[in-house]
Amino acid sequence: MIIDIHGHYTTAPKALEDWRKRQIDNLSTPELGPKSSELKISDDELRDTIESNQLRLMKQRGSDLTIFSPRASFMAHHIGDFNTSSTWAAICNELCYRVSQLFPDNFIGAAMLPQSPGVDPATSIPELERCIKDYGFVGINLNPDPSGGHWTSPPLSDRHWYPIYEKMVEYDIPAMVHVSTSCNCAFHTTGAHYLNADTTAFMQCLTSDLFTDFPTLRFVIPHGGGAVPYHWGRFRGLAQEMKKPLLKDHLLNNIFFDTCVYHQPGIDLLTKVIPVDNVLFASEMIGAVRGIDPETGHYYDDTKRYIEAAALTDAERQQIFEGNARRVYPRLDAALKARGL
Ligand SMILES: [Zn+2]
Repeated sequence: MIIDIHGHYTTAPKALEDWRKRQIDNLSTPELGPKSSELKISDDELRDTIESNQLRLMKQRGSDLTIFSPRASFMAHHIGDFNTSSTWAAICNELCYRVSQLFPDNFIGAAMLPQSPGVDPATSIPELERCIKDYGFVGINLNPDPSGGHWTSPPLSDRHWYPIYEKMVEYDIPAMVHVSTSCNCAFHTTGAHYLNADTTAFMQCLTSDLFTDFPTLRFVIPHGGGAVPYHWGRFRGLAQEMKKPLLKDHLLNNIFFDTCVYHQPGIDLLTKVIPVDNVLFASEMIGAVRGIDPETGHYYDDTKRYIEAAALTDAERQQIFEGNARRVYPRLDAALKARGL
């Protein structure tokens, strides 16, 4: 089985975007709506958007199951207040849940949280619990910067975030550390802000003793870990200067990287530098990079090809494609086992 741990509902029907636009237009007069109930999307519309996009490409490329969360750039936690985010997250999570019900063999959910800048992360817990308990979701996306590129929140190692971590430990779910759109014009959303955040999250963990407090807490750092694998020597050296343990003991029981790196040399480096145990297959398809690489004739985000071509044993490849995902997402493993898989 090939499990893609990083997919977003980027192809949701346009009615969702229209609903969000009305919500944003009425931020100062929320009594004018729209209400959640005003969003009407049929199962057939959901089916169409999946069958003609994500599922079509999954079948073409040969992946089986995607951990599916709301469109990351649309989370836009910086817009409005907690109530704005709360309504928006509930709607987006419900759509992913419906997709997972329509295609139970191919999609399982991960939750967007109703974060809002300056608001206690504990306020996200009811939505987190709803998604895990009622929707059968297997993970969450945690935005370390709900301000959208201005970094006004404390680092991930701060006690500010502990209420979320306590719930993650309680439910045994990992968080993908995933920012949303950048509203700071210095940072391009997917080309800079995402990768900066991945690198920043890793360094926040490195400088802290977060995983002493939460030995079973797990973060997936997406987009191949930002700059981390490429600069592994720098991080090792910095940890040494700070008298931290070796990175494999300090961080690698808790931090994992996905394979959303869109060329072969990047995957070769990732799989050479980072232990295979810490690499999870993902493509973030259909996402930020949708074109065909003229050097290969294949889609940049067809990341399965790179794993297949990397210098790995069959057993290592199986770990990256399936085994590690089952280990890092125990609720996914349980859901699969319940179906005899
Ligand atoms: Zn993503």
